[in-house]
Amino acid sequence: MTNSDLAERLLTVIEADILPLTEKGVSAGNKVFGAAILRKSDLSLVIAETNNETENPLWHGEVHTLKRFYERTEKPDTKGLIFLSTHEPCSMCLSAITWAGFDNFYYFFSHQDSRDSFSIPHDLKILKEVFRLDPGGYAKTNAFWRSSSIADLVATSDATAKSALRAQDKRIREKYQSLSDAYQSGKDDNAIPLN
Ligand SMILES: [Zn+2]
Repeated sequence: MTNSDLAERLLTVIEADILPLTEKGVSAGNKVFGAAILRKSDLSLVIAETNNETENPLWHGEVHTLKRFYERTEKPDTKGLIFLSTHEPCSMCLSAITWAGFDNFYYFFSHQDSRDSFSIPHDLKILKEVFRLDPGGYAKTNAFWRSSSIADLVATSDATAKSALRAQDKRIREKYQSLSDAYQSGKDDNAIPLN
């Protein structure tokens, strides 16, 4: 599998599987963050989910996906699975992905994007206040997993695939921007502690 095949599949899961759930979630007052789990073998989707902090402030997109995954009767071994996060995971979600046994994760937006484009400064603030880490200061390759940004996959794709991937990337960014605007305009009314 090439980097462009993987990038195309991950972007399509965000667009076709995660975003429709996130649209509903945001209209119920939740944040824009979502996640999914895919099989390494054929990149088929196991589960997609979205943030559900209005129910429980721990239900970030990633943790909510893992919760729903472990509620299922049939759970493939996480060593054979890919974890996809729409946004680079916060410290809680980094640990949750680790405790669940994944050896990888991929993300679309970075921590800096969450702060600058989504007005959600909490991830970076927790990293700094609790762990004394600067943005992106965690180990992206470590004894447990390796994290990769989809942007890097796109950047290293072959030239013919790149323009289609860039167009898909742009479409997804625009969609998230409008969802983020909707979340921000209504967030004063929700009871999420770090909204
Ligand atoms: Zn999180």
